[in-house]
Amino acid sequence: MSNAKPNGNKAAAAEANAPSSNFLKGLIEADLASGKYTNRTDHLGHPLPPVVTRFPPEPNGYLHIGHAKAICVDFGLARDFGGRCHMRFDDTNPTKEEQEYVDTILDSVKWLGFGWTHDGREHLYYASNYFDKFYEIAEYLISAGHAYVDSQSAEDMAKNRGNFGEPGKNSPFRDRPTAESLDLFRRMKAGEFKDGEHILRAKIDMASPNMNMRDPAIYRIRHAHHHNTGDKWCIYPMYDYAHPLEDAIEYVSHSLCTLEFQDHRPFYDWVLERAAEGGFFKHPLPQQIEFARLNLTYAVTSKRKLLQMVEEKIVDGWDDPRMPTIVGLRRRGFTPESIQLFCERIGVSKADSWIDMGVLEGALRDDLDEKAPRGVAVLRPLKLIIDNFPDELSVECTAPVHPHFPERGHRTFPITKELWIEEEDFMEVPSKGYFRLFPGNKVRLRYGYVVECTGCDKDENGKVIAVHCNYFPDSKSGTEGSANYKVKGNIHWVSSTHALEAEVRLYDRLFADPNPDAGGKDFKQALNPNAKEVITAYLEQGMKAALPDEKFQFERHGYFVADRVDSTPGKPVFNRVVTLKDSWGSK
Ligand code: ATP
Ligand code: MG
Repeated sequence: MSNAKPNGNKAAAAEANAPSSNFLKGLIEADLASGKYTNRTDHLGHPLPPVVTRFPPEPNGYLHIGHAKAICVDFGLARDFGGRCHMRFDDTNPTKEEQEYVDTILDSVKWLGFGWTHDGREHLYYASNYFDKFYEIAEYLISAGHAYVDSQSAEDMAKNRGNFGEPGKNSPFRDRPTAESLDLFRRMKAGEFKDGEHILRAKIDMASPNMNMRDPAIYRIRHAHHHNTGDKWCIYPMYDYAHPLEDAIEYVSHSLCTLEFQDHRPFYDWVLERAAEGGFFKHPLPQQIEFARLNLTYAVTSKRKLLQMVEEKIVDGWDDPRMPTIVGLRRRGFTPESIQLFCERIGVSKADSWIDMGVLEGALRDDLDEKAPRGVAVLRPLKLIIDNFPDELSVECTAPVHPHFPERGHRTFPITKELWIEEEDFMEVPSKGYFRLFPGNKVRLRYGYVVECTGCDKDENGKVIAVHCNYFPDSKSGTEGSANYKVKGNIHWVSSTHALEAEVRLYDRLFADPNPDAGGKDFKQALNPNAKEVITAYLEQGMKAALPDEKFQFERHGYFVADRVDSTPGKPVFNRVVTLKDSWGSK
């Protein structure tokens, strides 16, 4: 006997091979063409759009990049087809749910660029508001002979479930009279029994090749407080029972979820068909469609592991810029557009795969390249002294805000006798092909003058502490004379008398291993020790006005953002978002 793929592997294969990079679009277009969900109205007589989706997180953690994919799929498809997407908290589980999570989830979805208002109405829902309806339908299922109260011990129930190769055995309570099940179920609700004493099960088929159809549990006793319903209930519906009902109550047309629910789909359909027979819902019923989850290299996206990293202080909180959480990505300097672009590029398919972190970073670079104003920052400072530059002279230099968009204007900053340059832009003894500063060589100080290196000062350990040069007064960038100077090196600098000193956090990938938790590996062994370095850097003076979340390209270095938490007016702290080029050798 094989593990059932009840709706057929053929359909799955056809979907997987669909030419569209988002096979869901094709399915929805087919439904639109056949009119499957057109001309529906809700119970108030309001017309329903032909595409209604939902994003249904459990409020038990922070959203991560995998959820961002689901959000882009659920909200994005509704948007593209003029439909609506419901923001629904799947809060049927009485423990672990907290307001903090509800707030951050709503915030993250909005930040990503999506909303739940459609035609002037808000579509924010809580599954726990449907508890009465779930209960009513459960009573109906019992009355109609589709469910029974099972009183086996947990061990017997597990034993009688069988396994993949072996059918299950009927519970001795399976054929107890309907009236007895109904009475027990009501007493379960009234709180007469302890946790685990009885359970309500669907009556389907204990020999089904699909384990999920072997009389799955639909209600269990749980004496626990619920954040929304308080102590009203001591029985709670199981996810597989509640989810299809939530969808039907909200008139969802396309219930999109990840592949692990594929084997649950027959039960999803069973619940809805039975409830429709009972007059609770009308056809067309919601349909569940599964797509591949996002697996991202150099990251972990398990809520449990993310929580562990926060609790064990491996990272500095949920919004640590190294975290793949939405709040972390945001603080790191990712834009909503870059995440949407990423989701578009990776597409949606039925086949599980790994997406390289380089694809996410690439989308970010592509988005920021156009948007980010340029700036100069010296990250590893070394003093450069222009010996023939008058002591008190300060000459204004001009640079474009963005080299490809002259209409965005210019920035100015002064050049003076003493400057900061990058340590690596000087070599006392140049290696082959090195065109930057070394004694006797000329370079252009970007936007400033051409200088010729004359030597350097060293401390008692032989470490270079200052570089000397002379400048050519007629070589200033943008003046006529500058064209007479042909130099190979072009380095950036800031005036040491005018520079803004700032804390800069050089972030990199949190893990050094592309698959930090594959095959049960301990992800803590895979941490990248160089994922965070805090330095003091010298920045172009105009950066003083940077507002939290404002992003820049620091020339020759990469993209940086003014940290949204630690920056204060006039004193920004910068995070490196991403370097200009991928140094990880991925695409
Ligand atoms: P849990 O194990 O706690 O259920 P979860 O990641 O599934 O964790 P949910 O709150 O249930 O969390 O997720 C909300 C929605 O996001 C679900 O529809 C789920 O399928 C989807 N989702 C979660 N992780 C990913 C992922 N890596 N890629 C795509 N979608 C995802
Ligand atoms: Mg889940």
